[in-house]
Amino acid sequence: MATHFAAQLNENPVFATVAKAAGTVGVRAYVVGGFVRDLLLKRPCKDIDFVCVGSGIALAEETAKLFKEKQVTVFKNFGTAHIQHGDFELEFVGARKESYRTESRKPLVEDGTLEDDQNRRDFTINALAISLNADDFGTLIDPFGGVQHLKEKIIQTPLSPDITFSDDPLRMMRAIRFASQLKFDIEADTFASIHKNKDRIKIVSMERVIDELNKIILSSVPSYGFKLLFQSGLLKEFFPEMVALHGVEYQDNKAHKDNFYHTLQVLDNVSQMSDDLWLRWAAILHDIAKPATKRFDKEVGWTFHGHEDRGARMVPGIFKRLKLPLNDKMQFVQKLVKLHLRPIALSKEVTDSAVRRLLFEAGDDTDALMKLCRADITSKNAEKVTKYLRNFEKVEQKMVDVEAKDHVRQFQPPISGNEIMEWFELPPSKIVGDLKDQIKEAILEGEIRNDRAEAYAFLVTLASKQGLAIKTKSITHPSTSL
Ligand code: ATP
Repeated sequence: MATHFAAQLNENPVFATVAKAAGTVGVRAYVVGGFVRDLLLKRPCKDIDFVCVGSGIALAEETAKLFKEKQVTVFKNFGTAHIQHGDFELEFVGARKESYRTESRKPLVEDGTLEDDQNRRDFTINALAISLNADDFGTLIDPFGGVQHLKEKIIQTPLSPDITFSDDPLRMMRAIRFASQLKFDIEADTFASIHKNKDRIKIVSMERVIDELNKIILSSVPSYGFKLLFQSGLLKEFFPEMVALHGVEYQDNKAHKDNFYHTLQVLDNVSQMSDDLWLRWAAILHDIAKPATKRFDKEVGWTFHGHEDRGARMVPGIFKRLKLPLNDKMQFVQKLVKLHLRPIALSKEVTDSAVRRLLFEAGDDTDALMKLCRADITSKNAEKVTKYLRNFEKVEQKMVDVEAKDHVRQFQPPISGNEIMEWFELPPSKIVGDLKDQIKEAILEGEIRNDRAEAYAFLVTLASKQGLAIKTKSITHPSTSL
């Protein structure tokens, strides 16, 4: 790989401008970190970090002047400044030296040299710098063999890994995140040190841990990152429910599948179909209650009855502890966990009413559910997979047909509770809800179509059986509006 990058830097006028500003302020300046790594890997990168030996804030202010940018965001406490310039996020900081205490990942910071600054970086591939100074503009400064590690696809800490990870344990998550995103190996001593320092992760806030975990989940083959998390022991530290899926038990010579590796397979399968983080979380959690519901039955072998309901009930607790959002995203995951067996169960007997019920319950999330369900068809036996997929595709087609006919995915009650109250002069009461429910049931069962006039006729008959008659004649109800 080249060691001189003047030509590449000159392709983007940002660098000449920062170089000029550095000259005016009288500081030596460098582009550093992720941008340099991504430049060498030919990955696009819009975040550019600049480090200078002196005041990063002064350099940012001078750069902004040259850009005629009005806005410089200054973080005085951290000695950093930020400029948004077109598509680019520019971050400026003075070179610093860091020292750590055992109880916190927040370092004591003092001014330092470029070398000090590179020493505090997490990995050799993130410690690369390119000079912006007139005397050596474009020269790569690579004190720890980062270029070689990019070639060899290796994540390695610049200094002793024990010190690097103990100082800031978030770096253990970052190591695995970069390995997963870049498809790199973690160098043996670095990996051994993650194992050794795993319990230090407890001094990192859950939000930061999960930020990294979500990046692992969003990588193209997330199982790779999860296997590293599992093997290093880190996963158990913050997500023991997932580790509990690991293992195979035998009884009477019968084994069940290893639900940890099965889950990872489902996650990878889903990841080939969708980039949606929450669908990927649904894959991670779809069998989460299997350990809690596992039983052995002499007749049928291993069972996990009710793991979908129990799993759905576990979702809020897991989301809360992992500081994931307790909003509609969580409800989506919960819904998919609850319904994940339903499409396959349907393949035994695909009646229209069962399909309608599933479409009604899954609603707008039907497509996501079908992706999860397809991804869940895993087996070492290729014949079995083909057979299940064939059945599954039958169900899928049936769902398309039934939806085209009955439109239950976005089910709106054809008659509202207010209308029922008005027509029968009823106060808000249980009977109103019951009547509405029975209309819905009749539609799902196929007794009537999802149609206002049919629903009205059904309602009148139903109500009369309970001694209720239409009282309000002033309003336009479906029979008169036809
Ligand atoms: P991405 O943008 O994908 O997160 P990145 O490498 O640009 O990747 P940032 O978090 O933006 O990551 O960090 C920028 C640079 O700052 C890194 O390349 C690394 O040099 C340094 N860095 C970030 N976090 C740490 C850390 N916890 N310990 C040491 N150095 C770090």
